[in-house]
Amino acid sequence: MDFELNSEQTMFQRVVREFCEAELKPYAAEVDETGQMRREAIRKMRDLGLLSLQVPEEYGGAGLDTISASIAVEEIGRVCGSTGLSISAHNGLGCGPIVKWGSKAQKEKWLPILMDGEHLGALALTEPQAGSDLLNGAQTFARRDADTWVINGQKAWITNVSYAPVMSVLLRTNKEAGSRGFSMILVETNRSGLTIHPPEKKMGLKGSPTHMLSFENVTVPADNLLGNEGDGFVMTMQTLDSGRISIGALSVGLAQGAFEAMVRYAQERKAFGEPIANKQAIQWMIADAALEIEAARTLVYRAAWMRDNGKDYTKMAAMAKLKASEVAERVCHDAIQIHGSYGYSREYPVERMYRDQRLMSIGEGTSQIQRLVIARRVLGEFSK
Ligand SMILES: Cc1cc2nc3c(=O)[nH]c(=O)nc-3n(C[C@H](O)[C@H](O)[C@H](O)COP(=O)(O)OP(=O)(O)OC[C@H]3O[C@@H](n4cnc5c(N)ncnc54)[C@H](O)[C@@H]3O)c2cc1C
Repeated sequence: MDFELNSEQTMFQRVVREFCEAELKPYAAEVDETGQMRREAIRKMRDLGLLSLQVPEEYGGAGLDTISASIAVEEIGRVCGSTGLSISAHNGLGCGPIVKWGSKAQKEKWLPILMDGEHLGALALTEPQAGSDLLNGAQTFARRDADTWVINGQKAWITNVSYAPVMSVLLRTNKEAGSRGFSMILVETNRSGLTIHPPEKKMGLKGSPTHMLSFENVTVPADNLLGNEGDGFVMTMQTLDSGRISIGALSVGLAQGAFEAMVRYAQERKAFGEPIANKQAIQWMIADAALEIEAARTLVYRAAWMRDNGKDYTKMAAMAKLKASEVAERVCHDAIQIHGSYGYSREYPVERMYRDQRLMSIGEGTSQIQRLVIARRVLGEFSK
């Protein structure tokens, strides 16, 4: 694989960076303080294709490859973690399943609305009692009743749902069929019986809305089924594979933002008569960060390249997400260390980045689950 970005990817990166510097970076602290995304910036993203990264051009999307999509998420995450998470979730979890499994009618109905700059997409998998173990733990049930599905249960921690006109929901549709007993169903968020609870009060990513949902006899037409009945669990695993590349990219972005702040600060701050950047202990933190970010980004691009080239990328996506989230944790930690007490202050962005990165090793599969996925694949390869 050639790791050089091609000229289109390089140009796209430059355009997205300029946009992020102007429209997101100056407002990132405010987004964190107020818990409100900058809607004006989201609207402007439409014209750059940031709301339709991998939606095919025939549906009005940007139709980009996965490396370009990763570049976009990295660049947004570099300046604003909250916006990065919401845009990652919107593209990968919100639009992704509709693009991949939606009927022509479902695509024509929902994709234009999801890309219009006023809305964001959402995917509801997690439940109050089940995140890692959806197979055994997810209980929210859709009962077939004539030409409808009737849904009862709860979902938890759902990103963007307050901005979503519709969401894909993982539902148990057959209690006896194990992993084949799940289906993915589109649920309009204005359906009666659906309650979107107040936003969760989170440690970081405060501008990215996260909600618990209750379904009480929520009724949707039978043709809201996405893909085939019984395929919901497999669809979930495939969506998470690609979502992990995106969370890897977001982690790289958060690490990159903290890295740039740490290097600049080390060159400005003086101690013992010289910039602290002259001290070897500081240089080692800078060198480790530079190395680790490069390694993480390479894994993200490799997983993205594998996806674009039709290879089995499950293991690589898990590796990319695991590595990048651990790198983000380490780099944001060291960025605060280099800032000393100022790093502990809300006046400096590294404090926010440190809080924001903490989700990266939890969402879309915890680090323990990534290790499980990698180990299972490795053991499988060795027993062949
Ligand atoms: C900000 C935010 C946004 C989110 N957005 C969404 C969203 O849009 N849609 C959605 O569906 N979900 C979303 N989630 C939920 C998220 O994906 C889950 O929280 C995550 O998958 C972990 O599930 P859990 O919290 O239930 O933890 P649990 O599954 O209860 O895990 C608890 C601990 O046990 C460990 N553990 C579990 N099983 C094993 C095992 N087999 N071996 C070793 N250790 C194990 C875990 O690694 C973890 O450390 C979001 C969460 C947050 C915080």
